[in-house]
Amino acid sequence: MVVAIMDKKSQLLDLKKRMQDDVKLPLRHGATQLVFGEGNANTDVYFLGEAPGYFEDKQGRPFVGLAGQLLDKLIESIGLVRKDVYISNVIRFRPPGNRDPEPDELGAFAPYVDEEIKIIEPKVIVTLGRFSMNKFLPDARISAVHGKKFVVEFNGKKQIVLPMYHPAAALRNGAIMNLLKEDFQIIKLALAGDIAESGAPKSGNNSQLSLV
Ligand code: URA
Repeated sequence: MVVAIMDKKSQLLDLKKRMQDDVKLPLRHGATQLVFGEGNANTDVYFLGEAPGYFEDKQGRPFVGLAGQLLDKLIESIGLVRKDVYISNVIRFRPPGNRDPEPDELGAFAPYVDEEIKIIEPKVIVTLGRFSMNKFLPDARISAVHGKKFVVEFNGKKQIVLPMYHPAAALRNGAIMNLLKEDFQIIKLALAGDIAESGAPKSGNNSQLSLV
């Protein structure tokens, strides 16, 4: 018997189709279209934001408005370009008036987000804002944990998570902008395996500190 193994791109297309067909997904009726993740399916770096806004809803692509333009520049600041990475959101239909997502809405999209991550198998997940951070670090406060490396149990394996402020917050606040620019540099260190789990540079045995 020949078993066809779908490549990652085909698996993502299949996942997108299933989301488009899932009439039970919330927020669909107020939105123009589903905003699925996009980028390099074989990447090491997966960015997870919150929800589509006005421009994302119109174009059907994540992070294409002002926050997205900033995200592109931040990605370039670490020597990558947008098409090297994968960019996605915990919510895939624009909430009315860009309101915060509700817990049941996050719960409805979660199995699809989990499946997307399982397909891509990124080395690091960079969460942008508190809603995607709380998926992996439920009790964390972003002001305390941003720019640090965490290793969590996810999809049955150890997963590096780097929580960061949302680019939209950085656009509203210059101090957060500076923190976000600085925090982005740890993505390079994490990819090189050169950062301990507390966010401190690796030295001696301190890399054993676990924040799981
Ligand atoms: N903000 C997000 O969290 N996601 C987008 O796609 C755009 C803005």
